[in-house]
Amino acid sequence: MPKKSPKKTKPASPVAQAAPARAAKVSPLEIPPGILLGAHTSTAGGVSQSIVRAQALGFTAAQIFVKNNKQWFAPPLAEAEIEEFRAARKASGIYFFAHNSYLVNLASQDPEMFATSVRAMVAELERAEALGLPFIVMHPGSHGGAGEEAGLRRIAQGLDEIVAATPGFRCRMALEITAGQGTSLGYRLEHLSCLIEKVSSEKRFGTCLDTAHLHAAGYNLHTREGYEETVAQADKLFGTNRVLGLHLNDSKVPLGKKVDRHEHLGQGEIGLDCFQWIVQDPRWASTPKVLETPKSEDMHEDVENLLKLAPYLR
Ligand SMILES: [Zn+2]
Ligand SMILES: [Zn+2]
Repeated sequence: MPKKSPKKTKPASPVAQAAPARAAKVSPLEIPPGILLGAHTSTAGGVSQSIVRAQALGFTAAQIFVKNNKQWFAPPLAEAEIEEFRAARKASGIYFFAHNSYLVNLASQDPEMFATSVRAMVAELERAEALGLPFIVMHPGSHGGAGEEAGLRRIAQGLDEIVAATPGFRCRMALEITAGQGTSLGYRLEHLSCLIEKVSSEKRFGTCLDTAHLHAAGYNLHTREGYEETVAQADKLFGTNRVLGLHLNDSKVPLGKKVDRHEHLGQGEIGLDCFQWIVQDPRWASTPKVLETPKSEDMHEDVENLLKLAPYLR
């Protein structure tokens, strides 16, 4: 996810003003059965509202925050809320997974920040587990100047502490590739495989690949050769079956710029071809794929982006 999406915070934009009126006009997608495709979806109004939204647009997959992503902790989910979500999710048949809060930083060398990050991540995992979600996507963390090796060691330590505090959980953690902005780790596929090797319980972990982050980190997804090489590397390092989810985002910034800015599919530096390769790639046939591109309240942009892929879905 981008740190800040300027489009989301401009209240006076004509798109935002038109949102309520357009809400009824967005017709749902017709995604062929078996293909898991959708977008990050808001839980405003209650976690079950994300199902209503995803269903209205015809998504077959969706990503949600399990609490306000800009706050460390939240009051526990009510039992009724959990049951409502689980029942509605099951009835919808939509594949839901979670994304963690941006505040969590397991690479922090500050003991208090590190401890809070571990506690917050445990709390998020508990919520995701309660909701029956299969995994939660998380950014590995930023070392803040301590160096990459120290940062990776710290993250692995944090992940072990989280696993120890959540015995028997089915919900896995999907370490996400990052753009490599500032001192953030996870911008090399090797960082992800290194963490999986370091942790004591590797079966609790998967990865999440984000196209915008990969491209910004220097993996050239604009060319077929670059795409194939990237997927081959991921397969060699941790296996494509360990990729639990894919974030389909074009990139506003050029190859290797190490800045995290998402763009609508086909309107950025990656281009539409890569998204066609992904949806047609048998290695990702059963992998859920979601957009994290700029959107207004009615999410019509998500429908527009996914419609660009419609000709390539079978
Ligand atoms: Zn991002
Ligand atoms: Zn992402």
